[in-house]
Amino acid sequence: MLAVQEIFKHYEGCPLLKGVSFEVAEGETLCLLGTSGSGKSTLLRIIAGLEQAELGRVLWNGEDLAHIPVHRRHFGLMFQDYALFPHRTVEQNVAFGLRMQGLSVVEIQQRVKEMLEKVNMLSFAKRRVTDLSGGEQQRVALARALAPRPRLLMLDEPLGALDRALRTQLIAELRYLLRESKIPAIYVTHDQDEAFEIADRVALLHNGKIVQSGTPAEVYTNPASIWVAEFLGLSNLMLGKVLSLCPLQVKTDFGCWEVGCKAPEGLQIGDRLAILLRPWGASVQTEPGTENVLSGKVVDVVFRGEGYRLVLQCGEVKFQFYCEKPLGVGEMIRLYIPPESVICLNEPSI
Ligand code: ADP
Ligand code: MG
Repeated sequence: MLAVQEIFKHYEGCPLLKGVSFEVAEGETLCLLGTSGSGKSTLLRIIAGLEQAELGRVLWNGEDLAHIPVHRRHFGLMFQDYALFPHRTVEQNVAFGLRMQGLSVVEIQQRVKEMLEKVNMLSFAKRRVTDLSGGEQQRVALARALAPRPRLLMLDEPLGALDRALRTQLIAELRYLLRESKIPAIYVTHDQDEAFEIADRVALLHNGKIVQSGTPAEVYTNPASIWVAEFLGLSNLMLGKVLSLCPLQVKTDFGCWEVGCKAPEGLQIGDRLAILLRPWGASVQTEPGTENVLSGKVVDVVFRGEGYRLVLQCGEVKFQFYCEKPLGVGEMIRLYIPPESVICLNEPSI
């Protein structure tokens, strides 16, 4: 299907994309995740043909699209700011791309009806788009993007302007529509939760490159770097130096830590190691043992519906965990972190 190969792009002497490559398979929703300013929109514009890369290729089923103009690529685009025609009605907006394709009046009417039904907006067909709420406008924008039956749909932070509750609702509808239509899609966002809700696969863009890609579960379980881990919301980070290998002992800012988890391959004494602790699965340790045990003081406890979030202070460092049972603020505890919640990354650069 779509293959993006070694894309390079500079702006005003600053490199933005430094060899970006990825593929989108048939019927797949790929989520492109990256911080604001990382070049996500630029990449979509290059794929759409609205902008030129300095180097690299965009291929569709093996065909280089370099000389194929925007409208002949048959890619649909949907943006955050809707870009609907304000003085036209809902149905006129959806019909726009179909007229450009040269469909007959009857075909256009049928297609518009079908699309508005899909996004639950049929009863709004005659309304002007300026008389719609933000969520309704986004539904119309989606119907307009899908109506010409694009062979690829690109969505650039489509829900960014909407409030959380509406976003959750729309993303569920969008996921259903994308699965049902089987149109491959690239969904761009800086929001990890949103990406995990909709993606078959995520690709993380950082410093001009795709630093990791995989299913949400794969990247979450095995983040390739500290940046990926922190971007995905894994905030319990310990940095240290390897003291011994069997058992794996690490000198950290708040003392020595004995780690019970899979160590990175080729790890040696003296190496710098980053240890990430997932906030789930921790339990208070009453038996002796020191492996995967954090000693500290409970400094905050908040009820979070599904459990309690507690903050544990170990020396100068604070960690967050979710526990089933509440603990008292001020209590000194020893918290056991199960091996599956401990991630070790060999980071020579730190
Ligand atoms: P994202 O969508 O990830 O937020 P963008 O692709 O919009 O990132 O832009 C990334 C950076 O590239 C921005 O910081 C911006 O300054 C720069 N940029 C984008 N388009 C242009 C342009 N046409 N001219 C100069 N700089 C640009
Ligand atoms: Mg953008």
